[in-house]
Amino acid sequence: MLIRVSVLVLLLFCTHSFASQCNSSQVKLQVLGSGGPELDDGRNSSGYLIWYQNKARVLIDAGPGSSIEYGKSGAEFADLQGMLLTHLHVDHSADLAAYIKGSYFTSRNTNLELFGPAANNLMPATSEYLQRLMGDKGAFAYLKEYVNKRDEADYKVIATDVPLVRGQTFQYSLSDEITAKATFVHHGPVAAVAWRVELAGCSIVFSGDMSNQFEVLDDIASEADLLVASNAVPDNASGAAINLHMTPSTIALIAKHAQVKQLLLSHFMKRTLSIQNETLGIIRAKYPGPIKLATDGLVVSL
Ligand SMILES: [Zn+2]
Repeated sequence: MLIRVSVLVLLLFCTHSFASQCNSSQVKLQVLGSGGPELDDGRNSSGYLIWYQNKARVLIDAGPGSSIEYGKSGAEFADLQGMLLTHLHVDHSADLAAYIKGSYFTSRNTNLELFGPAANNLMPATSEYLQRLMGDKGAFAYLKEYVNKRDEADYKVIATDVPLVRGQTFQYSLSDEITAKATFVHHGPVAAVAWRVELAGCSIVFSGDMSNQFEVLDDIASEADLLVASNAVPDNASGAAINLHMTPSTIALIAKHAQVKQLLLSHFMKRTLSIQNETLGIIRAKYPGPIKLATDGLVVSL
């Protein structure tokens, strides 16, 4: 009996350590935009890039200015294996057309998969957003070959809408080595999802913008090597702000309960940029792990 228990414990231990073994030398996160929608914060809007084996493989959000930082990063557009949008607010999605237009001058010739939320009463589905931008009757219909490919474009953007089902996680394979998982989060009336990207035994989670009213981030962020959390409002926020965003205290509790190994605060607005030390104090009182503050261009190791 003792032997059997020992073997079981050993198996459990082995399984656990294998599952959480992050090959951190192969994976990096780069911040392309650490700001929100404000014009005068001196920061790009939301955008992140996951590097794997020194290639830019996954883009998360496409906020204004993020494509400029993408260019500065030295990333090759042809290397991207997926674009993941958390939601379609302007500060997370308005550079999409800029990336696609810019790609004309790159060597990309394989299709590009784009993932984002399905529609709700307020927002179009990600696939519809793409059509309204670059479809046959889109504002940028001159780029329609990239959406409804005929002959001229070298590749096509293929959009997948993540269903908005509370409490469920949807999984997508971006390549043999990279998996992306999404779950519906509460961001006021906006259709929004959080993303977890897994590769080389590592996991990086992006809260996107969300309040914690659905209480789902703990699950999708469980034991993540890095949680990127939007720090758009202070602890004393109220009204619309609190219906859209999580406070520092909430971020701290999620990071603690999910046992994330590292926390990156991002998506700052002037009301949080001005009190970063106070915010760090609030979070450190509850969450014991390392915390970094995002800046545009910052490269974060796992
Ligand atoms: Zn935002």
